Amino acid sequence: MKVSVIIAAGGSGKRMGKPKQFLPLLGRPVVAWTVDVFKTIKQVNQIILVAGGDDLARAKEFGVYLAESGKERQDSVKNGLDLVKNDCDLVLIHDGARPLVTADIIEKAIEAAGECGAAVVGVPVKDTIKMVGYDLIINGTADRSMLWQAQTPQAFKYEIITRAYQKIKGIVTDDSKLVEDLGIKVKMVMGSYENIKITTPEDLVMAEAILRSRNVSSNA
Ligand code: C5P
Repeated sequence: MKVSVIIAAGGSGKRMGKPKQFLPLLGRPVVAWTVDVFKTIKQVNQIILVAGGDDLARAKEFGVYLAESGKERQDSVKNGLDLVKNDCDLVLIHDGARPLVTADIIEKAIEAAGECGAAVVGVPVKDTIKMVGYDLIINGTADRSMLWQAQTPQAFKYEIITRAYQKIKGIVTDDSKLVEDLGIKVKMVMGSYENIKITTPEDLVMAEAILRSRNVSSNA
């Protein structure tokens, strides 16, 4: 099984006030932790990091393929997809801002997509989710037992994800949606509540605590 990985790290960090994926986490850029986990997976034979501007120059030290980011996340992923070797079996797409992903989660995603064609890592929601209008009035409460929070990696057969990206319309926040829209069944794979996306400042504090609890140091 040949797996190519696209790590999307080209966001501008609107909610953090600065790009989150290159902030220091225990002394190393967030995305350096992310890249390192994928390097340990034996089926992975290509890693493409998508980043913008100065970050792209800094990313040269990671020893992976590099692609220029786009305006929206999907534009960045598309730029990464253009570099994927076309003899690969699976494409994994991962948020650079999720440095706490583990080898175990990645392997489960690869196995599920190998069997089903498309798989997404996620966790059941813990809180009740409300639909809220711009006027802050609640206009719906979803059945929590049916709701999962989608994480990454999201894994797809090469043919499926390239077809999905050819049909793209509008703005989507994850790759699975594009595949679901093709009428293809996507399997949910249990991820981890530790696989957080660094989005707001408190996420960095949590990420550091999680890494310390795993007994890793900045020299890892
Ligand atoms: O914005 P969001 O939190 O959904 O971003 C998820 C991931 O996609 C982040 O790692 C971010 O760097 C990346 N991204 C990107 N290009 C963009 C926007 C986001 O690679 N234009």
